Amino acid sequence: MNISERQIEAGEAVVSLERDTAIARIRAALEGAGEDRCIVCDEPINPARRAAIPSAERCIGCQTQFEKERL
Ligand SMILES: [Zn+2]
Repeated sequence: MNISERQIEAGEAVVSLERDTAIARIRAALEGAGEDRCIVCDEPINPARRAAIPSAERCIGCQTQFEKERL
């Protein structure tokens, strides 16, 4: 059975997309290093917290306060 060119192209597109996504993620992680400051108090965010929650914008104290106020 032959695989059509279309199927090959589709497969390559997926691989390319995944690779681009992975590269973008690594680049963002590298560029983000050292800029992980809380948007509220401008204190550095704990690296362990940052690793656990890459999208974290607040330090633990401000996040806790934020969640309390939101409830
Ligand atoms: Zn903070």
